[in-house]
Amino acid sequence: MPLERTDPVVRIAVDLNRCQGYAQCAFLAPDVFAMHGEEALLYVPEADEEQREQLARAVAACPVQAILVDAVDVPAEAVSGAR
Ligand code: SF4
Repeated sequence: MPLERTDPVVRIAVDLNRCQGYAQCAFLAPDVFAMHGEEALLYVPEADEEQREQLARAVAACPVQAILVDAVDVPAEAVSGAR
């Protein structure tokens, strides 16, 4: 199945074994991360263009570097379309 993405997307993963629930990320990127109760962290798995700046701040602020982000996905079709 071809990927039909039009926007570059950043994939997000949080290493929950590392995450200590400091909630820095939820504070800095409330569109992406949220605390559920005192310890459970909820997050969206993909960030769009608008969330990316927030996300970068959250990644930098996490005291245990638990937030992992993939390289930006640039759709191959968009670059190699016309030959
Ligand atoms: S800032 Fe890091 S340690 Fe704190 S809740 Fe977010 S991912 Fe977990």
